[in-house]
Amino acid sequence: MTHPLSDRINSLPTSQTLAMAAKARELRAEGKDIIGLSLGEPDFNTPDFIKDAAIEAINQDYNSYTPVDGYLELKEAICVKFKRDNDLDYKPNQVVVSTGAKQSIANVAQVLLNPNDEVLLPAPYWVSYSAIATLCEATFVEIPSSIDTDFKITPAQLEAAITPKTKMIFFNSPNNPSGTIYSEAEYRALAAVLEKHPQIFILSDEIYEHVNYNAKPFSFAAIESMYHRTITVNGLAKAFAMTGWRIGYIGAPEWIAKACTKMQGQITSGTNCIAQRAAITAVLAPVSKIQFMVDEFKTRRDIVIGLLREIDGFKVNVPEGAFYVFPDISDFFGKTIKDVKIENANDFSLFLLEHANVATVTGDAFGAPNCIRISYAASELQIREAIKRIAAALS
Ligand code: GLU
Repeated sequence: MTHPLSDRINSLPTSQTLAMAAKARELRAEGKDIIGLSLGEPDFNTPDFIKDAAIEAINQDYNSYTPVDGYLELKEAICVKFKRDNDLDYKPNQVVVSTGAKQSIANVAQVLLNPNDEVLLPAPYWVSYSAIATLCEATFVEIPSSIDTDFKITPAQLEAAITPKTKMIFFNSPNNPSGTIYSEAEYRALAAVLEKHPQIFILSDEIYEHVNYNAKPFSFAAIESMYHRTITVNGLAKAFAMTGWRIGYIGAPEWIAKACTKMQGQITSGTNCIAQRAAITAVLAPVSKIQFMVDEFKTRRDIVIGLLREIDGFKVNVPEGAFYVFPDISDFFGKTIKDVKIENANDFSLFLLEHANVATVTGDAFGAPNCIRISYAASELQIREAIKRIAAALS
């Protein structure tokens, strides 16, 4: 019997990042020794000073509904953080706290997009961007890039992708899945194009800002002409090892923040009160307190790149941030390895799961069909073992 699900859910793809993580979990439960390099989830524990703040909040009986857009103290702390790290002036009434940056993005899309609006997605892009646009019945338009340009799009490409229907661009630097970071000059060059098209809003997803190995983070909204139409998205999951705490937030023009609050008020209300109290401590903490994790990620990145470059057929660039490498593996297409015909990145990723017991994510999920994503938010031991297995399976 077919179940009478809505067209909305039927048209929605399953999140490939979460699906691969679930598959790895399932295989592990069956007794298989799977190394998971699919999920973008730090393998560190949440730092003690943040955990202590949460425990204190429980003991202080924080247990009631919070304001829909978050505690005022947290929104004030986020404003301090925006000024300190991004040189952005936001007031608390421009900030909305949500259940993860994913909800922040979904809120923004829901309140700005109408059916048939076009959303520009510089590819590769995070899996849920296209799905969220689809949920809003908007059309997403990919702007392709490749490893040869370090997965960056050019201003000319941006200009060519814009039509009168373009309503938004989802921009993400440091980028998931490529780890690419745009320089300030590159931001400004893209902004120069957007200046000519005042109807376009910019969703600037800066969730990986602290996982950054060279340059100081830059923000779209720091460009004066962009500020009034940029929504800056951030959260605590990646830099503070707090994926499960689910705290995301935006800084935005007040009218957009108000609309997001209205949306959230009908769907989830304010996010978890304990996580919010702990988040006050986290966002106000000096960045130096989490630097040890970033340093460790950098060491691992170098190991991954070094090892992957030794495998024939892997084309690897040097990502400057996030915790992913995004090798081009199209050299394998058309080849048969261990009786498996590899036609595309999906086949390749499944081959690695089956024959190397290593979980990765196919580039198709990110609008980059020549690549796979490897997360190095895993221990050095696991990373070394995983790549050894990959090399053995392909040899
Ligand atoms: N953002 C992480 C990733 O890309 C977590 C999973 C998800 O929400 O997609 O792996």
